[in-house]
Amino acid sequence: MLCPFCSYSDNRVLESRLAEEGESVRRRRECKQCRRRFTTYERIEFVPTVVIKRNGRREAFDRSKVLRGVMIACEKTDVPAELIEQLVDDLQAELQQRSSREVTSAEVGEMVLGLLKPLNEVAYVRFASVYRKFKGVADFVSELQTFEANAELDSLKARLERLAAAHDQPAD
Ligand SMILES: [Zn+2]
Repeated sequence: MLCPFCSYSDNRVLESRLAEEGESVRRRRECKQCRRRFTTYERIEFVPTVVIKRNGRREAFDRSKVLRGVMIACEKTDVPAELIEQLVDDLQAELQQRSSREVTSAEVGEMVLGLLKPLNEVAYVRFASVYRKFKGVADFVSELQTFEANAELDSLKARLERLAAAHDQPAD
């Protein structure tokens, strides 16, 4: 950081503290050459994500759009609004961590599905029916069946675990 008065490149930090409600760090600096003081602000870089749509067009990631989609999928389910907000927060955090700033709308859909699956089965299937653009009822039914098959597998596993646990208990 060059001194704004003499353009010298070296300075020392006199004081650091959080600013802007913790979103930045304010530093008071002193130029090592002219000794004049100036202030810098350090912020986390927030790079917007670009979504590539099916038709190839690009648009900025729209949080409210995803939120609306998930809310519609969760209608008449017991998923509370805070969890829906949390899901979209998680999605955004995931997008920020990716190395690429571009993501296809299909990828966003799959990410939402991944987050929705453990939350609510009905909402998951509803959202899948939109994002994966099912070709017909058959696709929709096959998705439901995969779901039921997984649920059956899970309950079978749970039963086996219970049996194993019972087996380990010493018999009286
Ligand atoms: Zn200076």
